[in-house]
Formats: sequence, C-alpha cells, structure tokens
Amino acid sequence: MSKGAGNEPFWQSKSLDALLQDEWESLCDGCARCCLIKLEDEDTTETFFTDVACHLLDNQSCRCGDYGNRTTRVPTCVNVTPDALPKIAHWMPPTCAYRLLWEGQELRWWHPLISGDPNSVHSAGISVRGRIISELSIPEEEQDDRIVDWPLWDVEDLSKSGD
Ligand code: SF4
Ligand code: SF4
Repeated sequence: MSKGAGNEPFWQSKSLDALLQDEWESLCDGCARCCLIKLEDEDTTETFFTDVACHLLDNQSCRCGDYGNRTTRVPTCVNVTPDALPKIAHWMPPTCAYRLLWEGQELRWWHPLISGDPNSVHSAGISVRGRIISELSIPEEEQDDRIVDWPLWDVEDLSKSGD
C-alpha cells in the first residue's frame, strides 16, 4: 500500500483526483452494492435499491463479469470517477468507499484496505453475496416488488435487523 509523506495511507494523504489509477481501483471494497438495479420515484426522484443484480455480476465473487467493457455492455453501469462523484455520490450506497471519502469520512474497519483481507467485506455482511438474484431470473415488471433497505446499511444496522 502506498503511503504519503507523513506515513498516512494514500487515501488520506492525497485528494481523490490525485490518486493513481491502481490506487483508485483499490478503493473499491468489492461490495457490488452499486451493481444492484435501482428504481427512481418519478415524482420525488428518490432512489430505491432492489436485490436484483445486473446480469454481468457474479453472485459469489461479487465481481463484474466483463469489467473492461462494462459501460459498453451495460449502458446504465455507472463509471465512478472523481469528476462524477459530485453528481452520483448521493445515491451511491452510504458504505461505498468512494462516497465515504468524498464526504470526508473514514474507510470502515471491514474495508479490505483496512483489514488487509479481501474477504472481510463479505464476512462482515456488507457485500451482496448470497442476498441477490440476477435480473435475468425475473421479469422486469417484478423489480418493483424487490425493493430492499439493506444496501443502505452498515454492519451495526445489519446486526440490529438480524439480517
Ligand atoms: S458500492 Fe462503491 S465500493 Fe462497493 S462495489 Fe460499488 S464502487 Fe465499489
Ligand atoms: S456492468 Fe459490471 S460493474 Fe456495471 S453494474 Fe453490471 S456487474 Fe456492476
């Protein structure tokens, strides 16, 4: 992990738009919450998460099946960049590392860069692993019935809910 001059980790010593590409990519915790289908209330523009996942998402690894071509294969796939964050952060999952840093918050203990373990996002219950179905598995008109709150929750909220 690269460190700043004061020995801070790179995400604390640098601004988001100064990160190297591999530093930027490593900030993604691998939760795949952003790969869930989202629905928007036409009147209020409020965004709701469903437990229906993009057809390219691998349910077990929580990785994109074609990351390099994702925005071509899935035009609604959001390309998270420093420039895009001001426009998209408000509807990204509150636990998303990019949103947390953009809001001036710290990475959570279960983030792989903090824990040193790429599985901690799964073992902490933050990732979508085991909670989702593919959009290929249900008719599109049934997505309205699949709105869920847990993509908005951190570990404490998940344990209170017994989820
Ligand atoms: S929500 Fe954020 S941290 Fe989680 S997979 Fe998406 S971009 Fe990565
Ligand atoms: S294309 Fe890949 S990164 Fe984009 S939403 Fe689908 S699974 Fe996620």
